[in-house]
Amino acid sequence: MVASQLDSALRPRGGGGTRLESVSASAQAIGIDIGGTKTALAAVDAAGRVHARASFGTQSTRGFPTCLVELVERIRNVLKQANRKSESLSGIGIGCAGPVNTQRGTIHNPYTLPGWDGAEIVTPLREIFRVPVCLENDADAAAVGEFHLGAGRAADPLVMITLGTGVGGAVLVDGKIYRGVNGEHPELGHIPVTPDGPECYCGRRGCWESLASGTAIAAAGEAIGFKDSCAVFAAPRDAKARAIIQRAVDATATAAWTLVHTFLPHRIVLGGGIAEEHFDLFAVAMRRQVSLATQIPKDRVEVVKAELGHEAGVIGAARLAFQNSKLT
Ligand SMILES: [Zn+2]
Repeated sequence: MVASQLDSALRPRGGGGTRLESVSASAQAIGIDIGGTKTALAAVDAAGRVHARASFGTQSTRGFPTCLVELVERIRNVLKQANRKSESLSGIGIGCAGPVNTQRGTIHNPYTLPGWDGAEIVTPLREIFRVPVCLENDADAAAVGEFHLGAGRAADPLVMITLGTGVGGAVLVDGKIYRGVNGEHPELGHIPVTPDGPECYCGRRGCWESLASGTAIAAAGEAIGFKDSCAVFAAPRDAKARAIIQRAVDATATAAWTLVHTFLPHRIVLGGGIAEEHFDLFAVAMRRQVSLATQIPKDRVEVVKAELGHEAGVIGAARLAFQNSKLT
């Protein structure tokens, strides 16, 4: 199959069913999603179907060499489950909690991946499996997954927000990852929301992430006797718990105002554990905020729920691997 046919078959809503079947049957990539707590990986075909999957605790404090050995072993197991040999792989794509250096293939995240600072992940995997390997920020990988196969289909520009342990954000323009200087990933979680808000690990106060992340909600809850963020959400009759949640919702709505005036996205896809559980709570407030805008075509901006759930990262990373293998 020539490259243009392959490209056509992979395009969302493009290509005939037969062609898509033949591509998906013959090509698979490994998608890896590395978070501070958990690492997930899957063998994914070109149509986004997951053929085998695995996950394990990241435990980055074990040091990168130990973690890399486990990752390689897990990749081999997933390939075995999917009945694939590594020689038949199209590539490996990695979405990792950032900051990451996508050009060098290195990880620089002492906040949620302590012990891995400066770790080279692309080169060893490329040498071991002898396939093209690419590294991206995890929010970007999830956005690519949602753009091609989930709630972000045909949306341009697309903003994807992940409300989970942290607040992550990614922007796709014409389906491509928006990059800043040096090819780096912009950090939407540090959009300022409340100047005198809680301290953020970035050194400032009142960032969106410091108010609306699971970590922030848990910290505020623990100060008044709740054991974690779930317990805070589960106590709507408690005025103090309600205030913590309201603060997170208000912060997200305020950040949405900045997002729509900065990027004027066609669609904002809301994902991550907190958004999955409490989508309406956040989406209603965001839509209300957007409806107040007077300087933009606000009616064109949609706020929708992510569709790929916790698999957005591995599916998006695999998609990036397919794209990368065509360029390599
Ligand atoms: Zn910050």
